[in-house]
Amino acid sequence: GNLLLDVRGLKKYFPIQKGLLRRVVGYVKAVDDVTFFVREGETLGLVGESGCGKTTAGRTIIRLYEPTGGEVYFKSRVLSPSGEPQWVNMAALDRAQMKLVRQEIAMIFQDPINSLNPRMSVGDIVAEPMVIHGKYGPDSEQVIISLLERVGLRADHLRRYPHEFSGGQRQRIGIARALSMNPRLVICDEPVSALDVSIQAQTLNLLQDLQKDFNLSYIFVAHDLSVVQHISDRVAVMYVGKMVEMADAEELYNAPLHPYTEALMSAVPKPDPLYKSERIIMQGDVADPSNPPSGCYFHPRCRYAVDICKTKTPEFRELKPDHFVACHRAEELKLRGV
Ligand code: SF4
Repeated sequence: GNLLLDVRGLKKYFPIQKGLLRRVVGYVKAVDDVTFFVREGETLGLVGESGCGKTTAGRTIIRLYEPTGGEVYFKSRVLSPSGEPQWVNMAALDRAQMKLVRQEIAMIFQDPINSLNPRMSVGDIVAEPMVIHGKYGPDSEQVIISLLERVGLRADHLRRYPHEFSGGQRQRIGIARALSMNPRLVICDEPVSALDVSIQAQTLNLLQDLQKDFNLSYIFVAHDLSVVQHISDRVAVMYVGKMVEMADAEELYNAPLHPYTEALMSAVPKPDPLYKSERIIMQGDVADPSNPPSGCYFHPRCRYAVDICKTKTPEFRELKPDHFVACHRAEELKLRGV
């Protein structure tokens, strides 16, 4: 498929400030030189432990956080005079241009309780993006009703309020809102982690159906590999603000190239109880992004680490077609999949 989003060397550093004068004493490198892409109509799973920068990366792409560096190319329709999709670097757009491009990129948040304004009716919540972008018109209520029905809610829910709904229904309201501007890319930030397990599968199925109907591309941010496994075409793995591996989902699960991916996957529960695989216990804690280790950030926890890993940062490179990895030893290690 064609590329829709091409993120190159994205950085987001948060200053650490101390004392009365709020002097900057250091930086948390939440996203540090991260490169990945999303193709039209696909789902890219973006995974890693909490604090690895995956959520920050998702938010920095659409400038909810201002990027510290890097480029975020997006094939935009709204900024193109001819209406033909055209590459724009979102990291360099001014506010007015960015507001226009935001029509094409929606976000679904983890916590449907906190992300929906409790004082707004369901109809207003779904309508709000249309109002913000000056697109609310006489036909809009009908559009909103069809959206509500499409996500499994009803027309008479329009005048109700978020507290009258269950967690799963509230997430459906959030999804309807996200689709109201007819986006092309949707950043789903842990959209099912706050939901009951019984509701998770339904919500994932709904997201997949909507993807087909509306030809959406998804970035699916999650800490849980087993959730991402079933819905992603490709998966990107982050560790302490860095991208460590990105590949076709099948390939990543069957033949990972990075020791961190291997360890993460060994922790995924296996459906077949007879299939025994060793769970790899990672030594030590996740590195501190304000004071990361030298060389490969994973080296203190990596069971394959050698001398060079302590001094040299591994480059994120395409080792096999469409399979990217940042590990000095990726060629020689023969890692096991799930
Ligand atoms: Fe492990 Fe070295 Fe590869 Fe880092 S570069 S993942 S420490 S083998």
